[in-house]
Amino acid sequence: MERLKGKIAIITGGASGIGRATAEKFIKEGAQVAIWDITEDIGKQTAAELGHGTRFYKVDTASKNSVEQATQKTIQDFGKVHILINNAGITRDSTLGKMTDDQWQQVINVNLNGVYYCTKAVSPYMIEQQYGRIINASSVVGLYGNFGQTNYVATKAGVIGMTKVWAKELGRKGITVNAVAPGFIATEMVKKMPEKVIKMMEDKTPLSRLGQPEEIANAYAFLASDEASFISGTTLSVDGAVTI
Ligand code: NAD
Repeated sequence: MERLKGKIAIITGGASGIGRATAEKFIKEGAQVAIWDITEDIGKQTAAELGHGTRFYKVDTASKNSVEQATQKTIQDFGKVHILINNAGITRDSTLGKMTDDQWQQVINVNLNGVYYCTKAVSPYMIEQQYGRIINASSVVGLYGNFGQTNYVATKAGVIGMTKVWAKELGRKGITVNAVAPGFIATEMVKKMPEKVIKMMEDKTPLSRLGQPEEIANAYAFLASDEASFISGTTLSVDGAVTI
């Protein structure tokens, strides 16, 4: 269908999981992809496997410097950027009583500061061309909270807030900004959890299963396409109805 033909997309955390599935989907839809990821070996391998001019950039989205350098390099290589998928994210789960300052800070650095740094660095290029699509990875837990995830939930709720601010600030520049709130998706992030917790999540989900990374990639692709041209500032739940 090539809904993203001619578009240049940056996908953070694009080496694996939902990010990799997104890179694959975007290529099928005609986009050229820059994968920004901290994991070099897997990132290089993913870019090579996907082909179609996909490039890997080793980026720590939690580092302003690293993000600024990657932005420069990506613009040098591709000339433009139309789509930014702020997808990189980590968990460091612990209950409030046991959470260390380090666990708190690491998650804030990647999931909140990272989204801010990437959007701040990339959005001027979108403003200049009066066109852009920014999509942020939130989570079902950012809307409803979750036991043992003070740090992660703070960031995923924060991302929804930033999405609304940027939709207001950047709308007049031809840029839409949306968030996607995945439910429980079968990636390394969820596979790290104990089996009985995964089973509990499946039981809680009316569709009775975990989601697949491709099902989030489809939502990102829709929001990045011209079909979503009047959608901005929203958070799209893709969660098998777990939240109702
Ligand atoms: P994943 O752990 O499978 O992949 C995350 C990717 O991000 C990895 O390739 C990793 O190397 C990269 N990354 C981590 N820290 C980075 C950094 N500082 N800079 C650059 N890259 C970095 O995770 P996933 O399940 O694919 O999750 C993708 C996004 O979706 C995350 O933001 C996550 O919070 C969100 N999400 C996932 C689920 C789920 O159930 N899997 C649910 C809700 C939201």
